[in-house]
Amino acid sequence: MSRPIPLDKIRNIGIMAHIDAGKTTCSERILFYSGKSYKIGEVHEGAATMDYMAQEQERGITITSAATAVSWNDHQISLIDTPGHVDFTAEVERSLRVLDGAVALFCAVGGVQPQSEQVWRQSEKYEVPKICMINKMDRIGADFFAVIDEIRQQLEGNPVPMVCPIGAGESFRGVVDLLSMKALTFDEASSGVKIVESAIPTELAEKCEQMRSEMVEKAAEQDEALMEKYFENGELTIAEIKQGLRKGTIARAIMPTYCGTAFKNKGIQPLLNGVIDYMPSPLDVGIVHSSDNPELIREPKDDAPFSALAFKILNDKHMGKIVFIRIYSGTVKVGETVLNNTMEEKGRIGRLFRMHANHQEALEIAHAGDIVAVVGIPKTRTGDTLCCVDNPIILETIEFPAPVISISISPASRNDNEKLGNALHALAQEDPTFTVNYDAETSETIISGMGELHLEIIVDRLKREFGVAAQVGRPEVAYRETIRHSIEGDYKHAKQSGGRGQFGHVHLRLEPQDPGRGFSFINEIKGGVIPAEYIPAVEKGVIKAMEHGPCGGYPVVDVKVTVFDGSFHEVDSSEFAFIEAARQCFKKLFLQANPQILEPVMAVEVSVPEDYMGAATGSICQRRGRIEGMDDKGGVKLVHGYVPLGEMFGYSNSIRTMTQGRGTFSMVFEHYEGVPYELAENIIAKRKAEGKVR
Ligand code: GDP
Repeated sequence: MSRPIPLDKIRNIGIMAHIDAGKTTCSERILFYSGKSYKIGEVHEGAATMDYMAQEQERGITITSAATAVSWNDHQISLIDTPGHVDFTAEVERSLRVLDGAVALFCAVGGVQPQSEQVWRQSEKYEVPKICMINKMDRIGADFFAVIDEIRQQLEGNPVPMVCPIGAGESFRGVVDLLSMKALTFDEASSGVKIVESAIPTELAEKCEQMRSEMVEKAAEQDEALMEKYFENGELTIAEIKQGLRKGTIARAIMPTYCGTAFKNKGIQPLLNGVIDYMPSPLDVGIVHSSDNPELIREPKDDAPFSALAFKILNDKHMGKIVFIRIYSGTVKVGETVLNNTMEEKGRIGRLFRMHANHQEALEIAHAGDIVAVVGIPKTRTGDTLCCVDNPIILETIEFPAPVISISISPASRNDNEKLGNALHALAQEDPTFTVNYDAETSETIISGMGELHLEIIVDRLKREFGVAAQVGRPEVAYRETIRHSIEGDYKHAKQSGGRGQFGHVHLRLEPQDPGRGFSFINEIKGGVIPAEYIPAVEKGVIKAMEHGPCGGYPVVDVKVTVFDGSFHEVDSSEFAFIEAARQCFKKLFLQANPQILEPVMAVEVSVPEDYMGAATGSICQRRGRIEGMDDKGGVKLVHGYVPLGEMFGYSNSIRTMTQGRGTFSMVFEHYEGVPYELAENIIAKRKAEGKVR
């Protein structure tokens, strides 16, 4: 079956933004103008189509919004949801992996905020081409050019204005399209559907001329042939300008930039045209490589072997587990058996869907470049690769940051124990930065995530979506343990008790690794002093010891372990004996290798009126923080710094009290750092008292 939409007319994009910049409203308007949504749903009225979680659950539909397809000028745009709050950076990351381009949305008053900065950096990591949209031009204090400057300075971006705003704040009326040099205003009676074209207002004429020549220059710079032509004629055709800008955008050298107000229905259609004109199609993205064999590739073609990446899992009451996939190559049909190569599991495609704003379109077949939802591959988690059984491949897996905060959780009613377990399991499959651990010795279930809010939302979802009320303990910092010195030594596990004894003997070397390098295990055994069949047991023993670190019972990270010598007994050696020997050996050596407790450190930005500057900086210093810098932004002072997460509990209350409600702050996880000695001693003593060090 030939594909309904050619590959070059597909755009898979996401909108990335700081929370509150207007992403939901903007997505809503995109659905409206592309004719897929009946009416405009206001966020504050709780009717936004993309806001699936709460409201749609109640109506029994849960699945519209992870990716929504719309058509615009003969093109198919898949709008992939990227959560705005920092607590969900993993969700942002996984959507960034599968989308081909992004609209970076900014508030015309707030400009570049710390969370936009983080998402921007992530999008650079995944090499995502971007268009910028400066929203909320109707707000008092809106300043298009100031935000452009911030994008240049704070994000080191290269925004190229494609429009010039007409008015700002209450007087914002529309935009001058710098390509056609026409003023566009948006008819209010038709909710902005009708666009009125007119001549550029005289007071903006000179400014627009200047902006246009800058834009044409930027277009010419992207291509030598265009540059020559531009030098000769001093002008380029509209098609040539678009060609140059498209090339530069896809190469991530420039970001075409628009403005408007989603809320007041102004400026959205030019943005949609920009998405078509400048965002890459799957063909521009080109081939993808296997993560473990760079020579193994897949081309964006329907006749290539099927490969796809799962980027979102949703559990639906009626349909069960729905997996959203991005197809990189080949096609997939209902009834076909595919391989989840990450999990090494096969499954039959039960149903295939394309999600639209207000209905699900059942498909028989999906093609390269498509974003679709699949039912029928039960074990799939976010980040897994699906592929054709005969031609397996693993596409790069997504890296997720480790959780930094934990709480204990239990069901409000004892009867709900199993229900809680199942619900937590389902949620952990949806969200890789959320983990669940059961501690058999304390009979506690511990959930961990990226921040207090992240866990609060999980607890709320348990109640809403799974009908389990839960009680939670106090949030605790997810500490880690590591070592600072290298060390070597041995341990012999030998027991003689009646019949067959136990014997395992290992020599291990422990070495610190650079932060973030994780764990590696090296086998340097020569001459079979430990038989090859027991080497996996040695690794198992080490991993077991690392789960509950010897210092404070926290997970051990960034250690390289080498087994280089040992001995065995013909009769008494067993897998168990070597697990035990390795476990004890690791514990013993770890404690002698200058161990250290690590804590998550957050990048914090406090925003206060000038009078409270002293209080704000003081509050960071008091919390073992360090100040990195201060800024002035639209009359408020911004203080940037780094503070350990453990010191930030309750900060929102104290900043409110301290500034009489006028200060705010935001924070994101930055890195792990060693805990000062005395504090580490206290943490360890407390953990020992709680029986958590074994
Ligand atoms: P999100 O958190 O980024 O999804 O932002 P929302 O779309 O939920 O918008 C946050 C708030 O800003 C809501 O109250 C919106 O009504 C409002 N808002 C969104 N777009 C605009 C806009 O263009 N102008 C104004 N004045 N308010 C807007």
